[in-house]
Amino acid sequence: MENYAFETLLLHGNIENDSGATVTPVYQTSAFKHESAESLEKLFENKKAGYCYTRLANPTVDAFEKKITALEKGFASVGVSSGMAAIYNSIINVLQAGDELLVSPSLYGGTIDLFRDLEAFGITTVYTKDSSIASFEEKINAKTKLIFAETIGNPRLDVTDIKALAALAHAHGILCFIDNTVATPYLCTPLKLGADVVIHSTSKYINGSSTAIGGSITSSKHFSFSAEKYPTLADYKKFGAAAFIAKLRATIHQHVGSAMAPQTAFLNNIGIETLALRMEKSCSNALKLATFLDGVPGITTNYLGLESSAHHTLAAGMLSGSYGAIITIRVGSKAKAFKLINALKIPMIVSNIGDTKTLVIHPASTIALHSNAAQKQAAGVYDDLIRISVGIENSRDLINDFAGAISIAREES
Ligand code: PLP
Repeated sequence: MENYAFETLLLHGNIENDSGATVTPVYQTSAFKHESAESLEKLFENKKAGYCYTRLANPTVDAFEKKITALEKGFASVGVSSGMAAIYNSIINVLQAGDELLVSPSLYGGTIDLFRDLEAFGITTVYTKDSSIASFEEKINAKTKLIFAETIGNPRLDVTDIKALAALAHAHGILCFIDNTVATPYLCTPLKLGADVVIHSTSKYINGSSTAIGGSITSSKHFSFSAEKYPTLADYKKFGAAAFIAKLRATIHQHVGSAMAPQTAFLNNIGIETLALRMEKSCSNALKLATFLDGVPGITTNYLGLESSAHHTLAAGMLSGSYGAIITIRVGSKAKAFKLINALKIPMIVSNIGDTKTLVIHPASTIALHSNAAQKQAAGVYDDLIRISVGIENSRDLINDFAGAISIAREES
């Protein structure tokens, strides 16, 4: 299994069930019966494997966890109810009051909102100037316990040099977690580059068709930490690389109660099979559309595949030859942005990314609504910015639709 290529891993390897079904069925049950009191006792004492209650574990979810672990080249994974739950649970699993979280300002707006909520519990977030390694380094201090970054910032479209970031974190005994939602393991495997934990909003590319909100947390085969620096993890040191997942499963995962639903895991197990095909088509469509938009007067296009992107070279070295499927454009004003969005026929106006369908949104008035002006600026959110999540439609249709909408929007202005 380990040696299979990405496309083969997507399809094979997690189909373990008694029936011979080709996709792990939905185990739509809250609880699992046991043949004896002793059997359930053993399970509770961790002396045997099995299932007792879906908030803790479920076979359909388990199949999904095994697949994402294989794709991310990780040690083990936990499926959760959303990408936000993945971020929250993974962070709370290692931090405590008094700790500092060091992050780049170009994170997804909801993540920034969550980090603001954490302040009430004594966990402070320190923002770097940008996603460069130097700007992370200058903000590290004795309280810094976790560095958190996105492989590709959403919607700034900056790239973090994960190998260098993980090396920097480890040189200071700090853990490094990566949100790999926008890149997906098709473009990048952060754990192989040295990150300790990788999280996903599976609601995006992993699921693929926007049929279920979900999240995943995967830890590295090499997860290690200083018990002195991370006292809440200290009791789990004896589990070696399994420490992070062992604590997560035994504590936050079951106590917060944010398990992935079996139905979500089933939809993800189906959706993920086509991840490579979808990413290939979405990324090639994005490059064609970005190249077209880049030539339109009055529009400024930001796409990692364009040489004009400040992060193009880093992306070329880190992202397996493609540049992702998110483009942003600046069109001059909020009014112009709204006119253009409203004139498009194919893209859906949706607050999501990573769908088979092309999606557009005006981030400033939606996903970044709760960020202040400075946070918006740092996250690359401007009043005239449109984010395009490019789908798998015919690229010519997409380009024609954008060309038509740009003309209509101009006539109306
Ligand atoms: N991380 C990124 C990069 C996102 O774009 C999102 C989007 O919503 C999330 C996390 C949160 O995921 P979810 O909506 O599944 O909670």
